[in-house]
Amino acid sequence: MTTPFWEEKKLSEMTDEQWESLCDGCGKCCLHKYIDDETEVLYFTKIACNMLDKKTGSCKDYVNRLNLDEGCTSLLRSQLTNLHWLPETCSYRLIDQGMSLPRWHPLLTGSKKAMHEAHASVCSMDIVYLIEVQEWEDHIIGETDLP
Ligand code: SF4
Repeated sequence: MTTPFWEEKKLSEMTDEQWESLCDGCGKCCLHKYIDDETEVLYFTKIACNMLDKKTGSCKDYVNRLNLDEGCTSLLRSQLTNLHWLPETCSYRLIDQGMSLPRWHPLLTGSKKAMHEAHASVCSMDIVYLIEVQEWEDHIIGETDLP
């Protein structure tokens, strides 16, 4: 049996196609985060980018996303030493930490269906859109210390 690429390669060794396919499309990285400057704690929130489609977990305009939202960022290989800001279930973070992909990952199941059924995407989260938010602190769902 052939070893899948994500088990034999480091992120930095993957082809562009492999790198892209590793994303499960969960949409959780489209939820806003912020850093408390005094405590240096990074807070994860359920505040979604206004361009996030909650039904699919995808950006409503993925091709133009970097121009449409100034806070949007593209996940680059150059960021590989700094993945603490990604959700704990993010495939890039898991592989970077030497962990396995979850059983519902589209690379293992062939589609996003199992991921949605496992409630592992934003589709099953009680998100709010940035445009609706007044107090970010009301929407915190996790935190971590900066490395
Ligand atoms: S959190 Fe990670 S796996 Fe999920 S959509 Fe974002 S980059 Fe892809």
